[in-house]
Amino acid sequence: MFISIKNVCFSYPNTESVALDQFSMNIEKGEVISILGRSGSGKSTILRILAGLEKSTNGSLTIQDEIVFDDNTFLQPEKRGIGMVFQDYALFPHMTVGENILFGLFQLKKVQKKKRLKEVLELVELEDYEKRYPHQLSGGQQQRVAIARAIAPNPHLILLDEPFSNLDAELQVKIRKDLREILKKANITSIFVTHDENDAHALADRIVKLKDGCIDLIGSPCDLLGTT
Ligand code: ADP
Ligand code: ADP
Repeated sequence: MFISIKNVCFSYPNTESVALDQFSMNIEKGEVISILGRSGSGKSTILRILAGLEKSTNGSLTIQDEIVFDDNTFLQPEKRGIGMVFQDYALFPHMTVGENILFGLFQLKKVQKKKRLKEVLELVELEDYEKRYPHQLSGGQQQRVAIARAIAPNPHLILLDEPFSNLDAELQVKIRKDLREILKKANITSIFVTHDENDAHALADRIVKLKDGCIDLIGSPCDLLGTT
């Protein structure tokens, strides 16, 4: 199995309640997974644990048979090969689109950087925007830059936090389709969290429904039709 998440549990310090209880699932290479749940169901918590911004109380994560964390191991976030796309995109405002995307590629040689930049700009269809600054782009374009930046270093997995919450309703429909195409074309394994059932159904290969920190249901969008 490409990614294996086992029995991940988490409680915030000084709280009685459990934010995440025995979260387990396997993910195949290239799968698009949606974690769907109401506010407070544990969506941000699982993303933060996978990214390494939070340490789980117990459980494990392996990617391609490499242990990312378990009882004895904890790989630092930058060693995990996991990219993040934040809700507000978190682009560097004083850097151009090209510079933003190149940020994660510092270890590459100049020629390789140029090649990779061209590839990802093509992938997100922003070839003509390399020299622009984030404030000169629409919300949807900014999101594509954030995705390009996350994908550029060829991560094993990208995590997206509420990818549509900053876009207006009309754009959302178009961008869902674009985002799925980008992820599928790049064969990038991804997990995105959302509170919006429509987002999950439009984008995901499989949906994980979280309720009070527990997995309530897991299945393809078809499997889950009519369950709510
Ligand atoms: P979601 O992202 O689905 O809204 P969260 O993962 O943020 O849910 O929260 C899961 C649970 O953990 C909720 O009960 C929330 O109140 C609690 N929680 C989240 N962050 C903290 C924190 N920093 N300190 C204490 N409790 C928290
Ligand atoms: P989202 O679900 O959009 O990520 P949340 O409302 O869950 O937003 O959380 C926003 C911030 O507030 C996060 O940094 C989270 O850790 C923190 N937070 C959420 N719930 C609590 C809580 N019960 N106590 C303390 N901090 C919390």
